[in-house]
Amino acid sequence: GPHAIRVDRLNKYYNAHHALKDVSLTVENGERIVICGPSGSGKSTLIRCISRLEDHQSGDITVLGHRIGHDEVSEARIHREVGMVFQHFNLFPHMTILENCTLAPIRVRKMSRADAEARAMQFLERVHIPEQAHKYPGELSGGQQQRVAIARSLCMMPQIMLFDEPTSALDPEMIAEVLDVMIELASDGLTMICVTHEMGFARKAADRVIFMDKGEIVEEAPPEVFFSAP
Ligand code: ADP
Ligand code: ADP
Repeated sequence: GPHAIRVDRLNKYYNAHHALKDVSLTVENGERIVICGPSGSGKSTLIRCISRLEDHQSGDITVLGHRIGHDEVSEARIHREVGMVFQHFNLFPHMTILENCTLAPIRVRKMSRADAEARAMQFLERVHIPEQAHKYPGELSGGQQQRVAIARSLCMMPQIMLFDEPTSALDPEMIAEVLDVMIELASDGLTMICVTHEMGFARKAADRVIFMDKGEIVEEAPPEVFFSAP
């Protein structure tokens, strides 16, 4: 079948700043990619272009065999196929955990409330917090909130998950509980691209590590090669 993602000679400018320079990347179905590199190297921009949170100036992005254009059909396809988890959890504070997880499936997917709630409970169990379903985000720890954000994204049944520094806003003791959930998702065969500085996670869960610098992919290797001593 088609690749999960194919990025071909992508260029992105913020005014005069050339943030992505002819970036090409192919991600196979079921592949787990970690992107690392210094701050400002374009990691976040690359995955934000794939998720259409940013528009690019030239180059092509193909997701599951469909070339992404600047049209509503493309946008809808991306929202259906690609889930994204951010550094900040972006949960609605006035809604319970369960309501946060069922909102998009009910509104966008037109699921019945009962079906959406059953699915949400299934994913809250998968991230090990079913008992928090009726609480509000403010009652949860940062690590628990980030696991809710992951469950909420999974409730839309995406084919591909993008993670943008999902643990960098968390206290150290909460990082492992989020990474453990991501490692479980990786071993379930979910196609993932993770921007992260957590090299232990990369070692355990990545098929390929990509190193970016100044808007370019400068190195690309399996973790065992990437981390081997020179
Ligand atoms: P990284 O994720 O590797 O830290 P980013 O993709 O966030 O890097 O940013 C790449 C470069 O583009 C940086 O120099 C950053 O300052 C710049 N940049 C990112 N977003 C914007 C924006 N919305 N407007 C202008 N410049 C931006
Ligand atoms: P991250 O790289 O973790 O996504 P940043 O703090 O770099 O977070 O960026 C947060 C937001 O600010 C993003 O929406 C990004 O596009 C924007 N941003 C980043 N750098 C710049 C910049 N130089 N000028 C304007 N906006 C920026």
